[in-house]
Amino acid sequence: MPPLPKKKHTRARKGNRNAHNAIKLPASSVCPCSRQERIQPHIACPECGNHKGRTMPGNWPQVNLLEQVQPIAASSESDS
Ligand SMILES: [Zn+2]
Repeated sequence: MPPLPKKKHTRARKGNRNAHNAIKLPASSVCPCSRQERIQPHIACPECGNHKGRTMPGNWPQVNLLEQVQPIAASSESDS
């Protein structure tokens, strides 16, 4: 005969334990190419292929805005 709990756990105890089990929304961020497009972490933007400010290889319907900004910032830093 297996070991058994001595007493039944109360509904409150079960509820308190399950209070932390709610499903949360996955983490997401907004890409500058389109304000409404939500991008998931570790996944390139489906519109412009933006990932960590770089454009991943592939044919994307939009231009990565962050990729355009970076060369300007790099050139200004080299001039000064
Ligand atoms: Zn994008």
